[in-house]
Amino acid sequence: MKVTSAEFVGSATGPRDFPRDRRPEIAFAGRSNVGKSSLLNRLLGRRKLARVSKTPGRTQTINFYRINEAFYFVDLPGYGYAKVSEQMRRSWEGMVEGYLRGREMLRAVVMIVDARHPPTVLDQEMHAWLQAAQVPHLAVLTKVDKVSRASRGRRREIAATGLRMHDPDRLRFFSATTGEGVRELWGDLAQYLQDTGAMAKERNT
Ligand code: GDP
Repeated sequence: MKVTSAEFVGSATGPRDFPRDRRPEIAFAGRSNVGKSSLLNRLLGRRKLARVSKTPGRTQTINFYRINEAFYFVDLPGYGYAKVSEQMRRSWEGMVEGYLRGREMLRAVVMIVDARHPPTVLDQEMHAWLQAAQVPHLAVLTKVDKVSRASRGRRREIAATGLRMHDPDRLRFFSATTGEGVRELWGDLAQYLQDTGAMAKERNT
């Protein structure tokens, strides 16, 4: 995918603030500090579009990026920051569920998990929620530059088992540091977007 334009268009805390121009959307979810901003920046070939943060849990908004004037990347707030209060956790759930449930333009959710560790309980809950709600999704194991090639098969198994995935082949390896997996992930996203005409539009501009 050639990214000709990528712009931050706004932050939302509720449906009021969601874009209304009916372009298709791909959302990205993961626990705080998993590498979501780095993955977005790498996919888009922009160094600092999505902020890479050293203070996890800070961003508690849903952020919209318009790509090639054709579709949106939707950066969901990271979950699982240890220090959040019960009230903040509930407001996170309300905000994210409010987006994921019944968002007509949502084509798929990319769930990002750390390749070095088994999925956390919150990763499991998020994945189970997506399965139950029948939201199209795929899981990406990021920071794979930090694990040895020899251990990849095992990491894939551990992640697939932890997330109770029916098909481990749906797991993708990714590294924002080396760029590994960028092309493959774009291939997946193109599939999700293609029925909508977004890709055709992109080709014509
Ligand atoms: P976010 O909170 O999920 O948006 O995570 P960030 O993108 O801010 O990344 C958290 C930390 O992980 C930062 O220190 C990044 O430099 C580091 N990081 C992110 N992606 C990768 C990766 O693919 N490989 C390595 N080695 N480090 C990464």
